[in-house]
Amino acid sequence: MGLFESTLPRSTTPSGSPAAPGNFLRQAVGHDVAIGTYSSRRWGGGPGDARHHAGGELDWARIRTRFPPEPNGYLHIGHAKSISVNFGLARDYQGACHLRLDDTNPDREDLEYVESIKDAVQWLGYDWEAGGARHLYQASDYFDFMYRAAEYLIEAGLAYVDEQSAEQLRTHRGDFTRPGLDSPFRNRSAAENLHRFREMRDGKLPEGAAILRARIDMASPNINLRDPALYRIKYAHHHNTGNKWCIYPMYTFAHPIEDALENITHSIATLEFEDQRPFYDWLLSHLARGGLINSPPPRQYEFARLNLTYVVTSKRKLKQLVDEGHVDGWDDPRMPTIVGLRRRGCTPGALQLFAERIGVSKADSWIDYSVLEGALRDDLEPTATRAMAVLDPVRLVISNWDDVMGAGHLESCSAWLHPRAPERGERKFFFGRDLWVERADYSDSPSPGFFRLAPGNIVRLKSGYVVRCTGAVRTGAGELAEIHAEVLPETKSGTPGAAVKVKGTITWVSAADGVQAEVRLYERLFTVPQPGGGHDSLDELHPASARRVRAYVEPSLGQAAPEQHFQFERLGYFVADRVDHAPGHGKLVFNRITSLKETFTG
Ligand code: ATP
Ligand code: MG
Repeated sequence: MGLFESTLPRSTTPSGSPAAPGNFLRQAVGHDVAIGTYSSRRWGGGPGDARHHAGGELDWARIRTRFPPEPNGYLHIGHAKSISVNFGLARDYQGACHLRLDDTNPDREDLEYVESIKDAVQWLGYDWEAGGARHLYQASDYFDFMYRAAEYLIEAGLAYVDEQSAEQLRTHRGDFTRPGLDSPFRNRSAAENLHRFREMRDGKLPEGAAILRARIDMASPNINLRDPALYRIKYAHHHNTGNKWCIYPMYTFAHPIEDALENITHSIATLEFEDQRPFYDWLLSHLARGGLINSPPPRQYEFARLNLTYVVTSKRKLKQLVDEGHVDGWDDPRMPTIVGLRRRGCTPGALQLFAERIGVSKADSWIDYSVLEGALRDDLEPTATRAMAVLDPVRLVISNWDDVMGAGHLESCSAWLHPRAPERGERKFFFGRDLWVERADYSDSPSPGFFRLAPGNIVRLKSGYVVRCTGAVRTGAGELAEIHAEVLPETKSGTPGAAVKVKGTITWVSAADGVQAEVRLYERLFTVPQPGGGHDSLDELHPASARRVRAYVEPSLGQAAPEQHFQFERLGYFVADRVDHAPGHGKLVFNRITSLKETFTG
């Protein structure tokens, strides 16, 4: 099942298509597949115009979708949703999903981002290879066709060169209550428009002197149909086409054409593009009628973008956090980027579960961050290896140990790697006179519900022995220096008859074999659920969202591989940091993914 899809159980028909469409996108796709809307279209083996595709075979792909990021930043969790919707549909309906780098804007792209986009798609478990071919495309490869399409529209009387000033263009556009005004250039002849457009292309006009506009309706209630701009002059170097062009297509013109050349069937956009759909259809129906593109043309569908509380999901805002040093890079574990989520310890499986739980909808909303945390816990619980760690260590001395067990004795203890998967085996560690326990697990004057170490309390040290606490030593400043306890003999975990009534159970690590580690604790990046609601979100950054502590961890963690996931008993889920964790060099670094329960207090 695809990420971000309905959780409805779905059976599979003999032909392999899902029997129970879970959302409106699946219904639309299922309907088109059932009635064969695109079944007579041909595929020329790669993107191209109508003639190119006509020379190909019947398209084997029952649907074609695309994920079209602009390579101007690292992808975030919202893109993960789009990836799962598009690649998931293609996979479930025997289609292809194209990865298209939407690089038509020469200002903003950076090749640095391209590799990270490809990595993100693959890490999420998807692939742009389908039907024996790789569907990785660059929108700038279509510039020649876009130019041809523009000339076609001019010749058909459907586009004109407008030389009004920017100010005139703005005021003549009208608004929601007033219709726009026709441009004085609107009724130029096709020949004159063509001549002027070629002058634009040939660098005869300065930036801002003219634009090419569609000729539709300046009085349309949909402002996007009031003669939208198709091309602008821009003297910019493009990473793919160099200085070949000094005019560049507008996104609203380029995007439908990219879809058409790639034989896309269902072009899935976010809701803010709903008002663009009439232009999308206008443009492609004219180009199809003119025989320039394959028929029937693709259609656009819109779904609600993902907004996640306590983070921002806009590449521009995320870039600002990186550029201004508010975080330690795009892969900072607090970032909602895919590289950040991964470094934090998020798994593709957790994102899948998250996706299934939030579903696909037509209404904008905010998803609470706790939904992601819940998915993380549910994904990690059955798989994460168990271990003990002490994050705020204080020494516990077993004062009768040497007398009872023999001086310097170390008792070998063990515990399951996973309590419900004994076949995965055991971990081993020692119990001895000196141990580390959590500072917060001791109290001189316990409140009624406190069942951990306090004078007189009998407590089990998990997978070890039962001890009776006898008190503690404090420094002159009153700080807890050392806790004292006595072991109760014959109470080792797993020993028959070792059942002693205890107040509580705590975790521990032995001073003899515990290893030092750095543990990184993360809070939410922002203090408010919807950062930047009308003002500068930087004011709402959590001032202490990252903290590093020196911890002691059980010896088995000395062998942890980077990106290995653990449940530190009682503490939460942790991952060995994929960048800084280097066990061979004695450097253990673990990131807290999430606590065991929802504990966020704001
Ligand atoms: P940003 O504002 O973060 O740059 P964008 O929409 O401009 O986002 P693109 O690179 O153009 O980013 O987006 C690629 C695809 O990802 C688009 O199809 C877009 O609809 C989708 N997408 C982007 N953000 C979200 C989101 N928050 N939820 C769902 N889909 C998204
Ligand atoms: Mg964008």
